[in-house]
Amino acid sequence: MTAKGQCLCGKVKYQVTGSLGEVRYCHCLRCRQATGTAFSTNARIPEDQFELLEGADALTSYEMGPGIHRYFCATCGAPAFVKLDRDPGFIRPRIGALTGPVDVTLAAHVWVGSKADWHEIADDLPQYEEAKPR
Ligand SMILES: [Zn+2]
Ligand SMILES: [Zn+2]
Repeated sequence: MTAKGQCLCGKVKYQVTGSLGEVRYCHCLRCRQATGTAFSTNARIPEDQFELLEGADALTSYEMGPGIHRYFCATCGAPAFVKLDRDPGFIRPRIGALTGPVDVTLAAHVWVGSKADWHEIADDLPQYEEAKPR
């Protein structure tokens, strides 16, 4: 199974293959600030399941916390993925921009302790005040 994604302006294009595994909704303040939305929707997959097809030169990164690198398009600002120094070999694509069949298991809401107070979680997935251990 292959799903493709791209940034808003189309310079950065990527694809993911195989199962995205366990997907989490992250309500932490940094994700809210990075996306401008109530939460981010993130997978964690081995790097070899992710392929950057176009736009390596358009991609830039920001260290949003110690060892946490957020990659996004320098032109349009669309988020693409996050890499953690403490988790080598894995990549965390922001999966909202993927099109096509996406094989995911919606697993949890994390960092619910810092969620936007105007946002109400309306499903029955498990909720964690902070991170959920992998
Ligand atoms: Zn772009
Ligand atoms: Zn977060």
